[in-house]
This record gives sequence, C-alpha cells and structure tokens, in this order.
Amino acid sequence: MPHRALCPGSFDPVTNGHLDVIERTSALFEQVFVTIFFNTVKVPLFAPEERMDLLRQATAHLPNVVVDGATGLLAQYAQAHEIGVVVRGLRAVSDFEYEFAMAEMNKQVYGELETLFMMARPPHSYLSSTLVREVAQWGGDVRGFVPDCVARALQQRFGGEPR
Ligand code: ADP
Repeated sequence: MPHRALCPGSFDPVTNGHLDVIERTSALFEQVFVTIFFNTVKVPLFAPEERMDLLRQATAHLPNVVVDGATGLLAQYAQAHEIGVVVRGLRAVSDFEYEFAMAEMNKQVYGELETLFMMARPPHSYLSSTLVREVAQWGGDVRGFVPDCVARALQQRFGGEPR
C-alpha cells in the first residue's frame, strides 16, 4: 500500500489553496513530499530557494511534510523516492484536460504511479498563484489568499507600507 504521496507544483508562490490540499493530503498519508518542479518555461517571480523557503514556513506545522525541489520527470522522481500516489488539486473544469493528459503521461512513464484529484474547496476554487501575483503587483491586499510569510514576501518584493 502506498504510504507516500507527492504534491507537485510550481508554487510561485504557495497559496492558501495549495496549503489546503497539502494539509488534507498530509492527513491521509504517512509522508507527503511537496516538491517544486523547476522545469517550467514560465519566468518565475520567486527564485527556487525563495519558493522552497516559503513552502517550508507555510508547512512548518505539518510534521509529515517534506519540502523538496527537482528538475526532470515527475514520474522518475516518484519512482526514485518510492512514491506511489500523486495528489493534484482540481479547481474549475478548465484544470481538467491538462491534468488528465499529465496523469496518463505519468502512468506511461511509471506504471505503478496513481494520480488522485482533490477538489478545491469553494473559497479556493478561483485562487491561483498567477492571480495572487497580479493583485500584489498592483498593490492589492492578498492576505486572505496566501500564508502570512508569502504576504510579507510579496510586500517586500513590490514595496508598500507594512500592513
Ligand atoms: P502547476 O504549475 O503544476 O499547475 P501550481 O503551483 O500552479 O503548479 O499548482 C500545484 C497544484 O496545486 C496543482 O495540482 C493545482 O491544480 C493545485 N492548485 C493550485 N491552486 C489551487 C487551489 N486554489 N485550490 C486547490 N488546488 C490548487
């Protein structure tokens, strides 16, 4: 039986939506790897080390969560770390097609890997790192959307008075 799960993502930066999925996953598995994959072609706002540091702070209350960073194929990473289950958060229908393709591709690479989907809770259904970055960039208050450490990091990045 798989006892290790993987919550992969870009986490640029981690939001309360991510955190909700990570917390719920940590209640279901003995150990959860929250791994930032640095493959993306998008130019990130936060550097790899900053993103990992923010994730570590945001998950410090979860003793069975390990924060890691990686490049390369998710399925190979899972195999190397003896992880049997990938947990992905699903928000609106728009997430579905991409997730479906990725789950199938991961299974082609590593046949024993299962992908489970966790429905986003309504308060987080429309929350994304992209929107948070945009709101913060224009001076909006993001405190309801991200952990405190992230709100502070965004404020430092984009300036403005401490709230
Ligand atoms: P990626 O670039 O791999 O989509 P993200 O960091 O954007 O990485 O997301 C990582 C995971 O968290 C994905 O499974 C994504 O669907 C999920 N996720 C993102 N935002 C939310 C949210 N508001 N509620 C629930 N799950 C979310």
